[in-house]
Amino acid sequence: MTVETREPTPEAAARIAQVMDEYRDHVNPGLARLMQFAGFADVEATASGTTLTTVADVKYLDFVGGYGVFSLGHCHPAVIAAVRRQLDLLPLSTRTFFNSGPAGLATRLASLAPGDLEYAFFCNSGAEAVEAALKFARCATGRPGFVSSIDSFHGKTFGALSVTGREKYRKPFEPLIPGVSFVPYNDADAARAAITEQTAAMIVEVVQGEGGIHVAAPGYLRALREACDRVGALLIVDEVQTGMARTGPLFAVEAEGVVPDIMPLAKALGGGVMPIGATLATPWVWERVFAENPLIHTSTFGGNPLACAAAMATLDVIEQEGLGAAAVERGEQLLTGLRAIQRDIPGALVEARGRGLMIGVEFAVKDVAEIAINGMARRGVIAAYTLNNPKVIRMEPPLNVSAQEIDHALAAFRESTEEAVAMLDGIDE
Ligand code: PLP
Repeated sequence: MTVETREPTPEAAARIAQVMDEYRDHVNPGLARLMQFAGFADVEATASGTTLTTVADVKYLDFVGGYGVFSLGHCHPAVIAAVRRQLDLLPLSTRTFFNSGPAGLATRLASLAPGDLEYAFFCNSGAEAVEAALKFARCATGRPGFVSSIDSFHGKTFGALSVTGREKYRKPFEPLIPGVSFVPYNDADAARAAITEQTAAMIVEVVQGEGGIHVAAPGYLRALREACDRVGALLIVDEVQTGMARTGPLFAVEAEGVVPDIMPLAKALGGGVMPIGATLATPWVWERVFAENPLIHTSTFGGNPLACAAAMATLDVIEQEGLGAAAVERGEQLLTGLRAIQRDIPGALVEARGRGLMIGVEFAVKDVAEIAINGMARRGVIAAYTLNNPKVIRMEPPLNVSAQEIDHALAAFRESTEEAVAMLDGIDE
């Protein structure tokens, strides 16, 4: 199986070379090298549904899904239409009058979110949503500390980075915010010991995305909820990647029977069309943060009408197209297929795991994973590794991916893994 490629036209080849040179000279030389090595020496041109088309006119099946952004696929017509309508009316808010965009979206999210997460602050990215969550937790509790997990990922702004559990990304920017401790994920005893009367909040993902797709063990989130309640600390559940039906339920935490105090969202909330982040929280938190000064935390573009229109349309599509159920069904198909491949290529793959369509395959050897990603690209399927664990290839296709497309990706994965193992001639490390 190989991707259908023709020689790009001379115009296309020149365009690709120009963009790659511009990346090398003015964007990020290291990233340019990395992308070329991974087999992505082309320029994206258009996208629709699960398919990305490049300037060289090659079509790829997108199994990265923008790291959780493209849950509705690319350019979903309902989201595009909603944004177009809003574009003609009022794209950005004056921020002097009331605006129906954030009002309607906050009300809708309050009706969908678990428990009493009744208020929403809007921003433009996941890191900003986490940043707000941390500030709210400190302000509401009057406490300095945070507990987070080793290998967690919460973003790269100062606050979000301070609670991100990977030394490699934190170290060059230290000192970060003080009072953060890290505990092993899924170790309830370690969390109980770390959460004290000095703790403003514990922040946690329901499935560690960038950490290598690690799913919360049954009862883990409940144990964290209890540990926080015991000392009056808050629980922040970061749903930036798991939210919007990626794992089945609209919010992954719903499956845990736990209600967080604060819940950051982003990525798929904008339907793969607009950037938007949101931080949901309880009235108890809101009262303590905003009662005295309603302008204590703001964002110029946060909750802009275009982004809110996209998010409202996204929520409609998730409901109307039954994307939560689709994530579960297609996720099961993908995981079963990956486990069969794991059995068939002994020693190469350590584990296939995940929930819904947030799936990771852990390789025994990092280089095999890298070569397999390149092989998949040559077979027309985009995959990527997780940021904090390069041994894990993640698969997060759009939730409306078809059964045939899953089979196609599985075939590409099988061939690429076999090829990578053969190339490296050995799989021990
Ligand atoms: N939180 C989680 C769980 C994420 O996966 C990410 C991004 O991958 C972020 C926060 C940061 O989001 P952004 O890249 O939009 O700042």
